Amino acid sequence: MQDRVPLPEKLFDAVEARREEVTALTRELIRFPTVNPPGEAYTPCAEFIGDYLKRHGFGVEYIRGEGAPGDTDRYPRTNVIARFDGRVPGPTVHFNSHIDVVEAGDGWTVDPFDGVVKDGRVYGRGACDMKGGLASSIIAALAFMQVYPDFPGAIEISGTVDEESGGFGGVAHLARLGYFSPPKVDHVIIPEPLNKERICLGHRGVWWAEIETKGEIAHGSMPFLGDCAVRHMGAVLQAFEDELFPALDAKRTVMPVVPEGARRSTMNINSIHGGQTDDFRPGLPSPNVPDRCRLTIDRRFLLEEKIGDVKREVVSILDRLKRDRPKFDYEIRDLMEVQPTMTERDAPVVRAVAKGIMALFEREPDYVISPGTYDQKHVARLGHLYDCIAYGPGILDLAHRPDEWVGIDDMVDAAKVMAMGLNVLLRGGAH
Ligand SMILES: [Zn+2]
Repeated sequence: MQDRVPLPEKLFDAVEARREEVTALTRELIRFPTVNPPGEAYTPCAEFIGDYLKRHGFGVEYIRGEGAPGDTDRYPRTNVIARFDGRVPGPTVHFNSHIDVVEAGDGWTVDPFDGVVKDGRVYGRGACDMKGGLASSIIAALAFMQVYPDFPGAIEISGTVDEESGGFGGVAHLARLGYFSPPKVDHVIIPEPLNKERICLGHRGVWWAEIETKGEIAHGSMPFLGDCAVRHMGAVLQAFEDELFPALDAKRTVMPVVPEGARRSTMNINSIHGGQTDDFRPGLPSPNVPDRCRLTIDRRFLLEEKIGDVKREVVSILDRLKRDRPKFDYEIRDLMEVQPTMTERDAPVVRAVAKGIMALFEREPDYVISPGTYDQKHVARLGHLYDCIAYGPGILDLAHRPDEWVGIDDMVDAAKVMAMGLNVLLRGGAH
């Protein structure tokens, strides 16, 4: 049996007292339709967060992701960072949430940007991913500051943009400017919707690439005079089916990725384009032999794999086709790469949040790894800060879906865990 963690009653009560506040805050945040792309309503949403925290004594900065993809005067990439310094110096705990959401899409039974409350849930685009998490971190911080006004160290809360499109104008931009590096920041919690009893330690790696096969244009009635790039790509796909996919399937990892199907290497064929565009209908077909075909791959890799080997695996198949298949030629271009990352289980932020989970739920947390990446990649690679996790309320499966919601109980519970995490990291867990 593990040691029973004593309940920090005062702290939990202070969070509980903010149940209405976390609900209202989530609703207000949902009402900013911060859809990305294009990056709608970023500035008013960031200013709302900044004003809210300013009223509670935080110093607030706005930093635009100048020059980042999508940054224009019509759609400025406005980030907000708020900081509250305690009475004496000490470590800084930073809560980072992205304020952008994906498009609403079809199939909603409520207005996706109204923040409808029904049966103990707040509905709306971004409710769980991740405006509910942002609201939870805000009430966690306010409750902690209220119960322990003399706390040492500092608390930061940021609302950043563009996570859904790679985070370049958001956390990456700020990390480059030093906002996610020691000694400014020591511990980072990203309240993504990973379920309130789980601590997410990191994510798998990513390699996106575009493969192009070459051919020779000719009249479609005499294809033997040309060379069909789509058929060459067919040979690439066949080789992937025969060799690559079985090989990837066999690679297992120690990373506790959820869902379990992602506890191995995977690759998605993201797109394929060759020959005439499919918008020629009902116009006129042009009977050509396609001279190029492009394939985009989305390869997710493991801590046990090196990016160089991941690329070589694909390139060696292409090179062999070039040797064996008449007239086969190709090019390959990198589109994006992200290293896998996994915070140690005994890292301070992991242990602090685990204590909160054990106190509240009387059980050990589940330690998980996300199958896809999130902003932790920038904190690690650009900020060189490795004491970072994702922990927040909400059910990951609801993210990006119609009728997305977050449970009010879940937000309050996650805020209690975060408040206790703050208490452990800043005050050593004293009552
Ligand atoms: Zn998210």
